[in-house]
Amino acid sequence: MSAVFWSTRGEFAINSREVKDSGKGAITTNRFPHSPLKLSEISDDFFASSLGMSTLATATQYASAVPVLFNTRAIKITDLWNGAGVKPSPRYKIEAQDGLIFHANKIVNITGLGDPHVPVKDPASRELILKSFAQTNREGTLLGRITNSDDFLSIVGNRKRLGLTFVTESKAKTYVVIAPGDGGKIAVEKLLSPDFSPDLKIVWIAQKSVTPEAFREATFFRYHGISEEIGKRIETIPDYATRFVPLPDGRIQVFADGIAQSAIGDHVILATGYKNNFSSLLRDVIGASSVTAENVTSKVREIGDVTNVGTRLKIENAPEQDIYAGGVAAVPLASEAELNKSITQNPVSIENLGPRTSALAKALVTGTHSEMVLKQGHQLVSVSLDAIGSANRNRIAISRLRSRIEVSRLLRKYDLQAKQFTLRVNEQKLTVEGLTEESARKLLADLQSDLGLLHTLATAARGGELRLTVPAAEGRADVENIAY
Ligand SMILES: Cc1cc2nc3c(=O)[nH]c(=O)nc-3n(C[C@H](O)[C@H](O)[C@H](O)COP(=O)(O)OP(=O)(O)OC[C@H]3O[C@@H](n4cnc5c(N)ncnc54)[C@H](O)[C@@H]3O)c2cc1C
Repeated sequence: MSAVFWSTRGEFAINSREVKDSGKGAITTNRFPHSPLKLSEISDDFFASSLGMSTLATATQYASAVPVLFNTRAIKITDLWNGAGVKPSPRYKIEAQDGLIFHANKIVNITGLGDPHVPVKDPASRELILKSFAQTNREGTLLGRITNSDDFLSIVGNRKRLGLTFVTESKAKTYVVIAPGDGGKIAVEKLLSPDFSPDLKIVWIAQKSVTPEAFREATFFRYHGISEEIGKRIETIPDYATRFVPLPDGRIQVFADGIAQSAIGDHVILATGYKNNFSSLLRDVIGASSVTAENVTSKVREIGDVTNVGTRLKIENAPEQDIYAGGVAAVPLASEAELNKSITQNPVSIENLGPRTSALAKALVTGTHSEMVLKQGHQLVSVSLDAIGSANRNRIAISRLRSRIEVSRLLRKYDLQAKQFTLRVNEQKLTVEGLTEESARKLLADLQSDLGLLHTLATAARGGELRLTVPAAEGRADVENIAY
């Protein structure tokens, strides 16, 4: 129902590290199982940019050749077995916002953190915030009075792509940032960056550290760059924001708990978390019954043991359901001991979720690839790999990355009865070694019929012979470990 896609709009340094090793194989917390691409191939940074991560996620999706329908929001799920004499197959009907209808035998909810959450109870304040959110154009370049941190990053990114900043209009202005989590920290970092005026002031609400030392003590070192501004450009208010009042001049006054303290902001940025509303899609399926989530377990190679990879919905006094949850939507999945052993120690990090989601997919989807059949008027959007070329690398290096991704995409649907095989590209000549004659002939024919791919391979081979050695496991190409 969904795919791992990062916003490619807002840019920030991620908080899961990429460690270059000393010859033992890179240590990464940003591993996408079965991806032919690694973050270290597109970024040299210890904490890569979110755009690098987004490129990795997009390339991984593209290489999987699994069809995706963008900009399509599922809004309702119906269990067609409910009250039916003869049980139809597929069992579930899924309705999308644009009127599209799908049928499926299994539903996997991988809808992530959900929508930005506004944990403010005061009705007038809520109305003001939600109205401001609704009026925000996240594709645009204008910052409204109140935005959520995702839209804020998008809008700053949109402006940056046009070669513009907020330096002039943020001069001597006050920005109120609400909440101390990762979203709040990223927003504060952005406000302190050259995209904004150096003389702006930040009031950080719900930030309990009032000195640089206290901030460093309480915070992961990735964010320590912020600390020196605490008490200087950043004023902190430890209490939660409870009331938002528009002032006649358009600014917003934000009162914190107890109304003892308030801040007046030209702009207010809310980083108050997210709320997953997937259960509202299941209203018809669940009815008035109570539900529980049973753990789905599987062996996960990267974790080394059998562990929780997702959950299965269980409805009291109702037939067994084929509705599952994975990724952030199913958190917590890792046990405390597993988290302590992980590098990020973060239950929603890709390190802890990527391998689990991959194992869940393997456990639930039989066969090797899925199909999506669309009615007339809707098109599957093909993912653009342009971002691969935006890294500061030469054309041949980029073509080599693209070759590996394109070949992986092609190999997804191959049954490989070999331990490994080698594809050589030399002066526009393609050869395959290690496959049966029939498989090699089919692969060469597939490669030769794709002119775009042939061109990429030819460019990649310009710096000498291009040689891709592809290991196979369980009859499938192990594209994560292609050597070249
Ligand atoms: C600001 C921020 C910074 C982060 N930084 C890091 C980091 O540095 N390192 C790290 O490892 N992790 C980081 N994470 C966590 C990381 O984003 C998650 O681990 C990862 O995205 C989880 O993948 P997922 O597939 O479970 O959910 P998501 O990637 O959130 O994907 C969910 C998808 O479901 C779609 N969706 C939701 N509802 C519906 C619906 N009704 N119909 C159709 N589609 C729907 C959404 O649009 C979205 O595309 C960060 C998260 C945030 C918010």
